Amino acid sequence: MKVSESNFSRRAFLNTARAATLSLCASPLLSTMANASLREKKGAKIDFDTGPARTGFVSDDRYLLHTQGARHPESPERLRAIHRQLKSSGLDKKITPIAPVIDPLPYIRLVHSEAHMDRVRKQAHDEAICRLAVSGALSAVDAVCSGKVRNAFCAIRPPGHHAANNGEFGFCFYNNIAVAARYAQQKHQLAKILIVDWDYHHGDGTEWAFYEDPSVLVFSTHALYAFPGSGAADKTGSGDGEGFNINVPLPRGADDRAIIRAFTERLVPAAESFQPDLVLISAGFDAREDDPLGDFNITDAGFAQLTELMMTMAATYANSRVVSILEGGYNTRGLALAVESHVQALLGA
Ligand SMILES: [Zn+2]
Repeated sequence: MKVSESNFSRRAFLNTARAATLSLCASPLLSTMANASLREKKGAKIDFDTGPARTGFVSDDRYLLHTQGARHPESPERLRAIHRQLKSSGLDKKITPIAPVIDPLPYIRLVHSEAHMDRVRKQAHDEAICRLAVSGALSAVDAVCSGKVRNAFCAIRPPGHHAANNGEFGFCFYNNIAVAARYAQQKHQLAKILIVDWDYHHGDGTEWAFYEDPSVLVFSTHALYAFPGSGAADKTGSGDGEGFNINVPLPRGADDRAIIRAFTERLVPAAESFQPDLVLISAGFDAREDDPLGDFNITDAGFAQLTELMMTMAATYANSRVVSILEGGYNTRGLALAVESHVQALLGA
């Protein structure tokens, strides 16, 4: 059966809204927003049977070479666990491989200072792998923007959302997603980029990169009391960027209901008014239950619902363009299961 994008979008949105509505005891606000969003649908006409390959997947064995020492939680085992899980679930046969082939240096310079880059070269004995992580994100943007795939997940490391201009911070060296946003704007002339960060930790580096910039809407859910201690709700951007930075701190033990509420109540209306041309996800799975570095309780099904919501948003405003970039997630088994759920949702499976 052929399924149109608009039908898919409607179904996905309704599924997400239905699940959220059940858990929110039929919130009238959610229902209003869901209906308003559905009314605004542009009805993209991509057919699932004849359109481009569904989901790209950035991976490269060199990402396994980056280490910050024995027993460090940001370890190569994270990616090995993801690869094993995608293989055992058969998803590896459904995804389209994307190689990190773009030279990222000119675009890293759009975000980071030369002094920062010098520091990274001294701090990371494998700075080339840090650059390769950025390259992976840019290559995914290329694949999605050229129509080779509809969306993509980047199984890259090191992560990036804490990186600003002060050298390595929070396991991050270069801000992969911030450079990807600038790349999409410069290389693909996409004017408005939405960055959604569901990592347990606040994406302070990403906030820093776009705090005064109205062309990039940054939305983040996170624990306010945890590292790095930033991400207060009253940090809303400044200058021209006022109103384009949305922080939604969540309490200890935040579950699917809490995060879906944050997305539907805060992100859905903001995206509706922003109308992004591209949706980027800082996919941090340390917000998952049983993560050693977090204390949220998001389930794999919850991540699938968030993914579907992002896909619906992208189908509505951004010609279905979604690039999801791995950030945290330190229970390797849990990370692998969450990524499987996320990629399955991206595939529409
Ligand atoms: Zn994190």
